[in-house]
Amino acid sequence: MTTTNTRTSPLTTSYRPADRSRDIDDTLTVGGLLARAAAQVPDRVALVEGARDPAGRRRWTYRELLEAATAAAHALLAEFRPGEVVVVLAPNSADWVVLQLGAGLAGLTLAPANPAYQEREIEHVLRRSAAAGVVVAPEYRGHALHETVLGLAPAIPSVRAVWRFDEWVALVPAGAGGALPEVDAASVAQIQYTGGTTGFPKGVLLHHRGICNTPDLVLEQCGMRPGDTWLNAMPLFHVGGCVTTGLGVIARHGTHVVVPEFDPGLVLDLMEDARANIGLFVPTMLIRMLDHPDLARRDVSSVHTLVSGAAPVPAELVRRTKAAFGCGFTNIYGQTEVSGVLTTTRVDDTPEDQAGTIGTAVPQVEIKIADPVDGSVVPLGAEGEICGRGHQMMVGYLDDPAATSAALDTEGWLHTGDLGSMDERGYLRITGRLKDMIIRGGENISPREVEDVLFEHPDVAEAVVLGVPHAELGETVAAVVRAVPGSAVTATDLVAYCRSRIARFKAPTSWFFVDRYPTTPAGKIQKFALRDQIAGGALVPAPPEEGQRTWVTR
Ligand code: AMP
Repeated sequence: MTTTNTRTSPLTTSYRPADRSRDIDDTLTVGGLLARAAAQVPDRVALVEGARDPAGRRRWTYRELLEAATAAAHALLAEFRPGEVVVVLAPNSADWVVLQLGAGLAGLTLAPANPAYQEREIEHVLRRSAAAGVVVAPEYRGHALHETVLGLAPAIPSVRAVWRFDEWVALVPAGAGGALPEVDAASVAQIQYTGGTTGFPKGVLLHHRGICNTPDLVLEQCGMRPGDTWLNAMPLFHVGGCVTTGLGVIARHGTHVVVPEFDPGLVLDLMEDARANIGLFVPTMLIRMLDHPDLARRDVSSVHTLVSGAAPVPAELVRRTKAAFGCGFTNIYGQTEVSGVLTTTRVDDTPEDQAGTIGTAVPQVEIKIADPVDGSVVPLGAEGEICGRGHQMMVGYLDDPAATSAALDTEGWLHTGDLGSMDERGYLRITGRLKDMIIRGGENISPREVEDVLFEHPDVAEAVVLGVPHAELGETVAAVVRAVPGSAVTATDLVAYCRSRIARFKAPTSWFFVDRYPTTPAGKIQKFALRDQIAGGALVPAPPEEGQRTWVTR
């Protein structure tokens, strides 16, 4: 099971062929993955409920998990036919995982939706997915979700059954026996709704083969050892929670501890209690754990690696995390459309590669950096769009052929919309998003570059940089900063700081200070929401400094 990297043969252009040293199983399905683990390590603990109350920390061995998922499959098949869509709208729990695995065994398509959705969004998901059934939490953060779905269902002809989550859980043990259907590995296992950093989520169709093979290769490369205990605080409705982690841990015969929702104190408690070895956290979560007073009190010595990803990971955060936890660090990069992950760094990478790159492709994936205008492969080190090709690319966007063909070209390349570069070893750097690029008076500015500079300022806790419309220049650069609590840093200080480190035209000329950002539930900052707040006047700029006007117009 060793992974060899093509580190030995330097590349001559920004194309890295796939590493074929690891095979994939073309016939692998969610049910097959679980059955394989249950046959190989039946008595190992597979799943733990990371409840706040230690008495509620239920656990399942692999044998028990297969039994529970099989019962869930039978309960689903009493109502639905293979191929139909079941929406799950509920916060993280071990029973969510059992439902996911049961749907996989039954050959149903699971459509995980964010429990924070409001009525309009839920209606959109149910209609667009032609859902046959919904399993829905009674309520979530004050929203009576079950009632909302009951109110919507009569007007949506495809919906035949709505189960409140606890009713569903009670029903499972009654599932009758019998043979389960043959499931085709190329069939759609999930409809995933992407994070919404650029607008209303699109449904991404993912097949069994992609979501079952990819996470094994990913978790191996990013540092999971066979049998590790993995603490999962990612939302299960996101590909990072239920695919990369949920299925990856099964593939690697580990123990999956499900955290009900991210709370830094609870995560630190569970790390100690479950003797966790590894986990995936978006950067915002890492920052909150590092800032939490319990970090000094908890025994986190069992943790050997912390993995981050899903959003840009500042180099300084990598260094702080490694020092505070005394652990290894890796960064994984990808998106929903690629079944989760395209590249990762490794625990034995140099500190520079860990902090400054997103690593190399996982096995079985080709990567190229393409010129966004003519599609040609760019020279080594040049910026272009990160594209990937391999077995795990999405089937397409649900009912959106135009968006599908814009993302997935006729040669099978998935265009991520992310900007990056490749070096001669095949290591990638991520430099921004295509649509994020600020074009100020004809000069292209990557917001990411400016954010990185700001993040290194001791008084800046977080910073988001974006373009704001400007009559003369097209766009100018704005920064939305969350200062370190208690700091008195001003826009004037930060302008001077930026100008001492990057070209003058890149230094933000509009400054906004906030206490928190609008984020997706996965913790990603929603730039489009910030843009709306700025355009609508909800965010008030810091007073302009002397001279600032001249910089804008120069
Ligand atoms: P999603 O499909 O919700 O997982 O969002 C995927 C997007 O998140 C990617 O297209 C990137 O823009 C961003 N992203 C994911 N992982 C990373 C990472 N390690 N570093 C920087 N950006 C990332």
